[in-house]
Amino acid sequence: MEAQQHFDVVIMGGGYAGNVQARHLTRKIPGIKVAVIDPRSDEKVASIHKIGESTVEIGAIFLSKELGLVDYLIENHLPKCGLAFHWPKDPAQTDSIDDYHSIWPPRFPKVGTFQVHRGKLERDLRAMNKADGVSFFQGKVKDFQMREDDEAHEVEIRVSGEGRIKLSADHLIDAASRAFLTGKKTDNIIHDPEDLYGLHTGAVWVRVKGVDRELFRKDPDPLKTATSHYYSTNHWFGHGHWFWMIPICDDSMSISIGAMFHHSEVDGSKLDRKEKFLDFVKSNHRALFDIVDSGEIEDFVYWKKPSHLCKQMFSKDNWYAIGDAAYFGDAFYSLGTTTIAFAVESVTEIIRAKHAGECPDSIEDKRSAYNDFNVYYGQTVMHLYRDHHKHLGNASAMSWRIYLEYMWWFGVWVPAFIGKWHLDPEFARATIRHCEKGFFKTMYDDFSRMIDEGRNAGFIDCYRADQLAFGYCPTDEHTEYMEDAIFEPQRLDIYTSLARTYFLTSLFVLKYQWKAFGLPGLLSPRTWRRSLRLLAKSGYMKMGSLRHRFENRGRPVSAAHAQQTQDFKDYVYKPNLQPWTSLAQPEQDETIDTLPRRVQEAAPSGIPSAPAGM
Ligand SMILES: Cc1cc2nc3c(=O)[nH]c(=O)nc-3n(C[C@H](O)[C@H](O)[C@H](O)COP(=O)(O)OP(=O)(O)OC[C@H]3O[C@@H](n4cnc5c(N)ncnc54)[C@H](O)[C@@H]3O)c2cc1C
Repeated sequence: MEAQQHFDVVIMGGGYAGNVQARHLTRKIPGIKVAVIDPRSDEKVASIHKIGESTVEIGAIFLSKELGLVDYLIENHLPKCGLAFHWPKDPAQTDSIDDYHSIWPPRFPKVGTFQVHRGKLERDLRAMNKADGVSFFQGKVKDFQMREDDEAHEVEIRVSGEGRIKLSADHLIDAASRAFLTGKKTDNIIHDPEDLYGLHTGAVWVRVKGVDRELFRKDPDPLKTATSHYYSTNHWFGHGHWFWMIPICDDSMSISIGAMFHHSEVDGSKLDRKEKFLDFVKSNHRALFDIVDSGEIEDFVYWKKPSHLCKQMFSKDNWYAIGDAAYFGDAFYSLGTTTIAFAVESVTEIIRAKHAGECPDSIEDKRSAYNDFNVYYGQTVMHLYRDHHKHLGNASAMSWRIYLEYMWWFGVWVPAFIGKWHLDPEFARATIRHCEKGFFKTMYDDFSRMIDEGRNAGFIDCYRADQLAFGYCPTDEHTEYMEDAIFEPQRLDIYTSLARTYFLTSLFVLKYQWKAFGLPGLLSPRTWRRSLRLLAKSGYMKMGSLRHRFENRGRPVSAAHAQQTQDFKDYVYKPNLQPWTSLAQPEQDETIDTLPRRVQEAAPSGIPSAPAGM
């Protein structure tokens, strides 16, 4: 065995989470020594079909801004046009997309999002990390010892052709996904659906190349707005399941098509082979089947039970679990890269503070707050799928559910992430204190009751501004953070966003009760209790907003803009051009006859000579 090598950070697993963590660490902590261990070769990484192609706002802005990859993403992957949702008007007739009730995004989102080719992205991230000095070991973690307090951890790797190598590290990150390396050693993982808010799903998918995209839509943008629905993540719903359809940027413009299904409603044993899966698609979504059938299927994957949750993510003993090593719920809303963004930024900040020798008490304060926040976010993501098995196929219930969940995504989570509020320990703890799972459960119960009673609350479109009140649209932000680029940490007024989200949610409750249950629903004391509680919380958040404004009085809304304003004070307009080529400055004795043809043509006729500097 080779002599032991020491690193500041060893990352076990170099998939998406491991690679983005390594890049984030090297960008934020100059000189940090990082090692990544993964058994797959570069060629293997690029060629595998990995799911997780669809990014949403938080995952995408993390890649674009925090990792500095925006140009790379534009040039190597695909733009994404939000999420589109389709429910069959009649499950027995699904021949074309016109047989579905649809919610279409009318424009590309303000925060640019992407459909990424996961293999390509991971291969390229790996190359960027190597170029930035990250040590890469192509091998499998054979064993490791997690030490207590600040004692170095030890990792043993088996590298093909080289035998065993031993590494030691101040910080050990488990990004090895479902190998559950730290999870097994610490009994950290929860698999039982009872502890996952009843979530008991399976996943099955294929990648298809060379499809006839006109089978989806002849006109990619029938709403006549500037977008292409082919580039959305298209969700096709049915009873107890939903399918995704995502375009992928490769030589044959493949698409990724797959389903998440609930074992209580769909018998997984009837989906676990390609032929059975195709039969299911053909019977339940003929239009989608025709798209698959027009191309060539490249692979087939079936996972019986992908969901799990962990109890701890960031230990005081300097080990961390991120990505699927920590938790995964369901692919709905494409949240994988988002959950990783929250975790990676938290881990980097803990390690940065330790590396910088900051006060141990303040580091421990951050570590415990970040751990609790990230575990809480994992539970929140899991809760987001509660009772999906009852709701997915019902267009009315799901359209209301998506509308509500979008209100909170764009009103709470996206601005919190952009404003870096999750890195403020006080805010992270307050988020947990103000947990709204109880409220969401009451809404999910009401969606179930509506379905059980055979009622219909109509169809609500989360992209329209005429569905709730005051021209509100859930995908619009509540403050000007995009326009004014208030990106400095904790500068963005998250409290205004929270106050408006609570206020509008209280209206949502009233409107839903009225639409679903009529006057008895609207007048029920339960409805008013809920609505008034949300209003009270809105008022409370408004006070937070006033405090935030007071604390930030006199501070510019954006330091960059303030600097530009300052620089502009000395600006004086000088109405002249600088000489730009020698051709434009002919010698004093040069006549027009000796000038090149281009200059002669520009001269008015009848002028015999052209003095220099004319
Ligand atoms: C069906 C489905 C659809 C999804 N769709 C989306 C989506 O559209 N958008 C989205 O954002 N997320 C999506 N996700 C989630 C997303 O795929 C994951 O969050 C993400 O891939 C997790 O990345 P990771 O790095 O943790 O795991 P991986 O990418 O799986 O990487 C783990 C790495 O660990 C390595 N490894 C394993 N064992 C060892 C060992 N012993 N030693 C060293 N290395 C090891 C592996 O080789 C691998 O490279 C989806 C998930 C599923 C199940």
